[in-house]
Amino acid sequence: MALLVMKFGGTSVADIERIRIAAGHVKREVDAGHQCAVVVSAMSGQTNQLIEWVNEASPKADPHEYDTVVSSGEQVTSGLLAIVLQSMGIAARSWQGWQVPVFTDDAHSSARIIDVKTEELKSSLEANEVAVVPGFQGLGPHNRITTLGRGGSDTSAVALAAALGTERCDIYTDVDGIYTTDPRVVPQAQRLDKISYEEMLEMASLGAKVLQTRSVQLAMVHQVRVLVRSSFEPPDEVPAGEEGAGTLVCDEDEIVEQQVVSGIAYTKDEAKVTLIKVADKPGVAARVFGPLAEARINVDMIVQNVSADDRTTDMTFTVAAAELDKALDVLKGLKDDIGYADLRGSTDVVKVSVIGVGMRSHAGVAAQMFKALAEKGINIEAISTSEIKISILIDAAYAELAVRSLHSLYGLDSA
Ligand code: ASP
Ligand code: MG
Repeated sequence: MALLVMKFGGTSVADIERIRIAAGHVKREVDAGHQCAVVVSAMSGQTNQLIEWVNEASPKADPHEYDTVVSSGEQVTSGLLAIVLQSMGIAARSWQGWQVPVFTDDAHSSARIIDVKTEELKSSLEANEVAVVPGFQGLGPHNRITTLGRGGSDTSAVALAAALGTERCDIYTDVDGIYTTDPRVVPQAQRLDKISYEEMLEMASLGAKVLQTRSVQLAMVHQVRVLVRSSFEPPDEVPAGEEGAGTLVCDEDEIVEQQVVSGIAYTKDEAKVTLIKVADKPGVAARVFGPLAEARINVDMIVQNVSADDRTTDMTFTVAAAELDKALDVLKGLKDDIGYADLRGSTDVVKVSVIGVGMRSHAGVAAQMFKALAEKGINIEAISTSEIKISILIDAAYAELAVRSLHSLYGLDSA
């Protein structure tokens, strides 16, 4: 008998019919003798609706009350799932964030979990009751309700698994795992059986939006293995307790046949800023990036050209598309201080990244990539790398061509 943490995302609890199917997955595990703690999201679309109502009530809503409203979607689904389970003859109890409690800091709307108390939850589980815990919500200082940021139920689930000391957390969602790239762009994309935490972190932060990035960080720190699987498969066609169906996010050491490249991610969420003819002398970069950092604008890729005339150079960097206007405003205000001839901004770019822990021990991955892109006539506007990732910035029009070419280049296409 094992203790399982199962999490169902918004599309998996979108209506009562789907909640019944989710309950079927829980029943399968209960029938096999497992103790189950279940974390739920709000019905899909519900959190957006709640946020809209808050903004309509006041664009400057008090963050404490924002969390009171926005956390409520999960309260509804936790109660509904408990009711459906009970109607199937399974003992079940819902536990709101304040009842567990899930303690967080006071950063309302993006709180961090500090501690999850499990004593009462454990005695309920030991009495063979399914514990249904709403994700996304916690209890902050002064007994106020907090929320963890969009997509935060994944983090709730992993935190609960860590606190309960279970070795695996099953995330049921509307896809059946993590793919080598977006299957809508590359039909030959393949589901990965396993992916390392580090690769998943790169994938998650680069636009493969299956898991909240913070949940992967937490899983890595606490060594919780996360199984991403589909809730849409009929519950009784999946064997209980199995690892088989889905993608396991786990430690690198657990992956025997490691590919050099595991996946290709892309994001359209980038914007490019170019400063034309800035002085090529010490201190200029600090004058550009210091004020951007003070304005809390995150700069990602940076390229500085070699100056043609020894005196001026062009400087290009990227920011999140949503922050482009803010970045341009900051730089316009600094025109005299920095000294540049022109300032340009564009959102017509995408960032494409090749990811794989195997890169640590293999040379030539970047060279292969640049050659393949050159053959397709794709111009690279900026490059950034880490130990396990190479990212390039290209014209948005070439995004799909680049992703498809790289996917086959690294042998990821299914046969
Ligand atoms: N319901 C929240 C959201 O939509 C949290 C979650 O689903 O993970 O962001
Ligand atoms: Mg989600």
